[in-house]
Amino acid sequence: MTGAAWLLEPGDAASLLTPERLPDEHRLIAQTAREFAEKEVVPGIERLERKDWDFARQLLRRAGELGLIGVDAPEEFGGVGLDRAAALVVGSYMAGSASFSSTFGAQSNLAISPILYFGTEEQKGRYLPKLISGELVGAYALSESGSGSDALGASARADRMPDGSFALSGEKMWITNGGFADVFIVFAKVGGDQFSAFIVERGFKGVTTGSEEHKMGLHGSSTTPLILQDAAVPASNLLGEIGKGHKVAFNVLNFGRFKLGAMCVGGAYCAIRDSARYAATRRQFGKPIAEFGAIKHKLGEMTVRSYALESLLYRTAGLMDAAIAASGGSPGILAVMEEFAVEASIAKVAGSEILQFVLDENVQIHGGNGFVSDYPAERHYRDARVNRIFEGTNEINRLLIPGMLVRRALKGELPLIPAARRLQDEILAGPVAAGSRQDDLLGEQKAAIEAFKKTALMTLGLAMQRYGEALADEQEVLIAVADIVIAVACAESAVLRASTATGAMAQYHVDTASIFVNDAASRVETGARQVLAAMAEGDTLRTHLAALRRLLKVAPIDTVSRRRRIADETVRRGSYIFQ
Ligand SMILES: Cc1cc2nc3c(=O)[nH]c(=O)nc-3n(C[C@H](O)[C@H](O)[C@H](O)COP(=O)(O)OP(=O)(O)OC[C@H]3O[C@@H](n4cnc5c(N)ncnc54)[C@H](O)[C@@H]3O)c2cc1C
Repeated sequence: MTGAAWLLEPGDAASLLTPERLPDEHRLIAQTAREFAEKEVVPGIERLERKDWDFARQLLRRAGELGLIGVDAPEEFGGVGLDRAAALVVGSYMAGSASFSSTFGAQSNLAISPILYFGTEEQKGRYLPKLISGELVGAYALSESGSGSDALGASARADRMPDGSFALSGEKMWITNGGFADVFIVFAKVGGDQFSAFIVERGFKGVTTGSEEHKMGLHGSSTTPLILQDAAVPASNLLGEIGKGHKVAFNVLNFGRFKLGAMCVGGAYCAIRDSARYAATRRQFGKPIAEFGAIKHKLGEMTVRSYALESLLYRTAGLMDAAIAASGGSPGILAVMEEFAVEASIAKVAGSEILQFVLDENVQIHGGNGFVSDYPAERHYRDARVNRIFEGTNEINRLLIPGMLVRRALKGELPLIPAARRLQDEILAGPVAAGSRQDDLLGEQKAAIEAFKKTALMTLGLAMQRYGEALADEQEVLIAVADIVIAVACAESAVLRASTATGAMAQYHVDTASIFVNDAASRVETGARQVLAAMAEGDTLRTHLAALRRLLKVAPIDTVSRRRRIADETVRRGSYIFQ
């Protein structure tokens, strides 16, 4: 299946990757990452929070020794040579300190990927082995105070010197690992207009970093400006081609966004564990708070949303790995990452927002203890807020989702336009099939997902027709369409996974996926109504709304008793129940 094809085709569980189908090799890596986080990172959180960068460096070195930094990097550079699924498990089990996860993410993805995918053989040989082992610390310097979302509006410049080298000047902002990185991937404009990438070493003349930012959270992660004052960069450190820096910048962010989603699900595992254990022991009105329906609802919903996110991430990793294998392995990775950019943005938005929900409920379950620093709940809450801001803000990523779908449709890479036309003919012709009715619960959920997909197609198709090229200016419409597409991706991934579940946990899978679909139905409907009402009025709007009502006839299920069962099992185990 190619990128985004799931929006138009029926889901297929046969080749679906799920946590339950993870190969043994990957389980072993998950175990290694988990033990490293629990035994080496978490006990050192105070040191990180005090900005002990020698310790952060030691941890990176250790992660390198364990093969965690280069889990998906080629063996010839010291990597483990595994796949996207391996990177996903490492990202998600490296949890407990969001600060160290940021340090690790900047190293393993933002600094290594640009060199791996765009470097010359000499650059790869010079930098990759030391970055993958953690001997060198890397950072990625794209943002500036005046250009964050509008990264190509950077004012840093690179002037060519008579000997072919470059003099870089400008100031980069908010650089993760800035305080102690040895190597920076820097973006600057050659001659002031050709956006290009460079590998810049801290030791080069004219390179300094500013003081640490005072942040809301992530106090254990270094964030500083990078100051370039006629920084002397050898010609051999130009990364990729002059004027093609955008390719480096955006392709790296594609996989970075997916990995951010992975880190978010890891944070959710920890918070569910903490909440379950606290709710089991905290007594009010003579009993544990876990016995109150209000708390069961929270624990159940934290699990439901995390399950949908986890299912989405594993499905996407499986699709990407299959596409890379089909394209002949490593040389095809970059094209596949580009092809799955929609999924990467979905993973980033869904991951950051589901984690934020889970951490907010974690604080609430902890009551007053959630608001004071004796418990980690408040730190997790503060640390996670930035996930909606970096790696492309969630607004930018939401806009990218329909934007990329439309672009791919117009290029003929995705048959979205004919599918939308067929659906529209159906709408105008009268009743719209709401998907075949099924007797069993999962069958009903699958029918609901067919209806969600048709809703996504209907709203996007009508928006393309109504606004044409001006659609890019209709951000509210695009964002509402993005939310429908995100709901489709999460809901379908959850239901397909539940359909493969066997054994004692099977009923929990089905209940969890069904609750997600049940609640997604009203979100999809609200979004679609908003889009349709913005585009038409009178009889046309009435026709569209009538079609939507027929399409989204999703019978409600009893989510209360299902959430209670999930919550009770979460408390019994003292952890996320699907691990
Ligand atoms: C802790 C931390 C670590 C970071 N690490 C790094 C790093 O390692 N390397 C790096 O290069 N950068 C890093 N950043 C920077 C980060 O990527 C930027 O902050 C981010 O891209 C947003 O840019 P901005 O802050 O300029 O916000 P702006 O772009 O000014 O956005 C402000 C608001 O306007 C919205 N907005 C902007 N443009 C549009 C638009 N076209 N349509 C609709 N809404 C829009 C945004 O969504 C946001 O809500 C880091 C930031 C932080 C806080």
